[in-house]
Amino acid sequence: MGDSYDEECDYLFKAVLVGDSAVGKSNLLSRFAKNEFRLDSKPTIGVEFAYRNIKVGDKMIKAQVWDTAGQERFRAITSSYYRGALGALLVYDITRQATFESLKKWLHELREFGSSDMVIVLVGNKVDLEIAREVEKEDGKSLAELEGLCFMETSALENLNVEEAFLQMITKIHEITSQKSL
Ligand code: GDP
Ligand code: MG
Repeated sequence: MGDSYDEECDYLFKAVLVGDSAVGKSNLLSRFAKNEFRLDSKPTIGVEFAYRNIKVGDKMIKAQVWDTAGQERFRAITSSYYRGALGALLVYDITRQATFESLKKWLHELREFGSSDMVIVLVGNKVDLEIAREVEKEDGKSLAELEGLCFMETSALENLNVEEAFLQMITKIHEITSQKSL
């Protein structure tokens, strides 16, 4: 991960992935960055990140997206992970209620360590496993409304809404940062 650093861009910004272990964070990121789904799930320890250039209007934006790379298992994510992040994908697994219950804790961390106007997209992943669903779509939606987050259900496996979730975050960050620089 982390190639094509020197391609030309107008803006560079950092975003982070958070959520419980095995909700699909790393696969969402590899879909977004490389359009790959990783069948093996190997939680390498240490921070990883990937870049992706995206055109928003007439601007080229380079998104640097950080992945917890397994550290969430040990609750070992430090404040430097969040530092300077303008956006976050807060991910849970729709087939595991416990990952939804953890969202409060993750939100707390994001708000404690992240920037105050961070754009957070709540992502309910693994919608391809509808048959095993434990978290209703309405519950995700309500939480997002309550907490002022964007919301999307995705499948990293079937590449459903993955691009959209990242794009929603990136577009919103771009709106906020370009307003600020006026
Ligand atoms: P992370 O720990 O949050 O980074 O999760 P991973 O991306 O490593 O994925 C954990 C496990 O869930 C792996 O076995 C993946 O193959 C699987 N997985 C990830 N996303 C999806 C998805 O959208 N659908 C299904 N069915 N499985 C997924
Ligand atoms: Mg991972």
